[in-house]
Amino acid sequence: MLRTPAPPPTKAVQCLHCRQTIRVAERATTISCPLCARGIRVDDVVIERPITSGPVRTCGLVVVGKRGHLAAPMIEARLGVHVLGRLEGHVLSGGPVILGPKAVWNGDCTAARVVIHPGATILGGRFCILADEPPSPPPPPHSQSPASASGLGRPNPSAPRVSGRPPLGVPV
Ligand SMILES: [Zn+2]
Repeated sequence: MLRTPAPPPTKAVQCLHCRQTIRVAERATTISCPLCARGIRVDDVVIERPITSGPVRTCGLVVVGKRGHLAAPMIEARLGVHVLGRLEGHVLSGGPVILGPKAVWNGDCTAARVVIHPGATILGGRFCILADEPPSPPPPPHSQSPASASGLGRPNPSAPRVSGRPPLGVPV
């Protein structure tokens, strides 16, 4: 009797190039994006030793472990960057950048969110937090007070108001 194998588990990733969300096999490491046909890395990059590399780009996470030291001109991770060791390079992250208490950082950072634990060292770099929410609408224009009945155009809080006037004799 034939048994159909269960389909492999998949995960959603955001393409580095076209920024569309696609589903890939859970265990996939590199694929061609079905939408823009460009090659992308979709697994997490885990650095546990000193590494000097070219640009690192993944749809997953970049994790620099306690003994890790990643030096790369460009580090792009759609899900985030977690640094427990040392990182040198310009980082572009679609998710949170987290610097652990012993992290050493040197490089520019553009990220959706940055968490810096006490004890982390930042040697240099410019940090930019991406605004992924639409800009808040401008405040409403200053509300005009009702035109003064006096016509002088000058507010006079002590002027008698119609509502405060004693009622006129109303015939019953
Ligand atoms: Zn794509």
